[in-house]
Amino acid sequence: MKKHNFNAGPSILPREVIENTAKAVLDFNDSGLSLMEISHRAKDFQPVVDEAVALFKELLQIPEGYSVLFLGGGASLEFCMVPFNFLEKKAAYLNTGTWSKKAIKEAKAFGEVIEVASSADANFSFIPKDYTIPADADYFHITTNNTIFGTELKKDIDSPVPVIADMSSDIFSRPIDVSKYVCIYGGAQKNLAPAGVTFVIVKNEALGKVSRYIPTMLNYQTHIDNGSMFNTPPVLPIYAALQTLRWIKAQGGVKEMERRAIEKADMLYAEIDRNKLFVGTAAKEDRSRMNICFVMKPEFKELEADFLKFATERGMVGIKGHRSVGGFRASCYNAMPKESVQALIDCMREFEKLH
Ligand SMILES: *Cc1c(COP(=O)(O)O)cnc(C)c1O
Repeated sequence: MKKHNFNAGPSILPREVIENTAKAVLDFNDSGLSLMEISHRAKDFQPVVDEAVALFKELLQIPEGYSVLFLGGGASLEFCMVPFNFLEKKAAYLNTGTWSKKAIKEAKAFGEVIEVASSADANFSFIPKDYTIPADADYFHITTNNTIFGTELKKDIDSPVPVIADMSSDIFSRPIDVSKYVCIYGGAQKNLAPAGVTFVIVKNEALGKVSRYIPTMLNYQTHIDNGSMFNTPPVLPIYAALQTLRWIKAQGGVKEMERRAIEKADMLYAEIDRNKLFVGTAAKEDRSRMNICFVMKPEFKELEADFLKFATERGMVGIKGHRSVGGFRASCYNAMPKESVQALIDCMREFEKLH
């Protein structure tokens, strides 16, 4: 049976990305060696990193003066690397969910942290809009897509201080104005690559302004100076990321990814709003295009396990909601075809007819 992969992360990748990576695992560039058994300093591997960096810059139209890094540690390590490198006295954070909270917790070890607003009281079902960013903060940190709660900041914001964004789960899903940020980071396992590589886009001149000692591995400058090769980088996930970047470019770039994301999200939200059994959990204006969360209406609550079973039997994978929201979550990342979203909608309609 065809599987429709709605996993939240690690998640769906384009088929050709998986096939090309599989080929390189068996034989990298006709070298007779596997991608997994070559040196990251092999002359054939440097072009992989170079092309991945170049495609990042091209696809996101990253201006001069920014570096693109491929590191280990996940977005979770960035929660501490960001304040290590940027927080001298005070930082401002917008609290929009589990990942923001984790970022805030780490920052508190480095200085004063102002939580400008939070939607915690409403179980993070919306993105706060009414807040003031302190003009004396070193930076303002946002999570653009809240993977767990299904809300998304779909526009670049204006801020009196430099903006830093966790874009783990919506990078490459829309054009962004990188010049508005000093740092953008994320785990690649949502929309780019298998788990194991973290991307960081950092403005070079924003670095070097904190007075503390930064441990070598946690200092962005180390990785800029060494082209992401200070230590052994995650060779296989970087190779897979390159395949995804080539795929995005061939499909028409981030503008096309955005068009598809809107199309898919509109289809599924329309069904959620129409179907008598289901209701969306996020405020309409903040609905995420990447992670679509919905639950059974209270009067049909007892059908939740039945629907999960029904959908699973029809090939849906990974639609069980995160425990903090319950119900269902359909993650519709770039590689998710419209046909899979339609298959889920068909399931919802069939199930509705039975009740
Ligand atoms: C998944 C996720 C993280 C955590 O990423 P790791 O790479 O597992 O550390 C952080 N932020 C967001 C928005 C995420 O979706």
